[in-house]
Amino acid sequence: MAEPTQRTRTEDSPPAEDGRQQALAALVLPSPDTLTEEQLRGATCVWDSTTLTPETAIDLGPRRDGPYQWFPRACRVCVTTRSLAALYDHVDKCETCRGSAGALCPDGRPLYRLSIHGGR
Ligand SMILES: [Zn+2]
Ligand SMILES: [Zn+2]
Repeated sequence: MAEPTQRTRTEDSPPAEDGRQQALAALVLPSPDTLTEEQLRGATCVWDSTTLTPETAIDLGPRRDGPYQWFPRACRVCVTTRSLAALYDHVDKCETCRGSAGALCPDGRPLYRLSIHGGR
């Protein structure tokens, strides 16, 4: 009976998924040389070696190391910590994020979201 009221206006930002992949791809990883075979395979977290399950693993996107491509994955705790660190780092250098109270730039926003939701 009622007309659809789902007219939530999304601000002109890229879709959440894009921003999320971008933010994940921007996280700095340990050098593949220092990682175990499990970490390189994505069986354990690249940062703290936590064993990952399909439910807990967060895909960090394909990475390239010279001729090799690898597919790191991480646990939610690490993604949260790392993205928060990356966000602080970004805000520190970004005039837009520092200037406007609470409003983050298109680069800062995905990091913020990631740090809250742990990539989900
Ligand atoms: Zn971890
Ligand atoms: Zn910014």
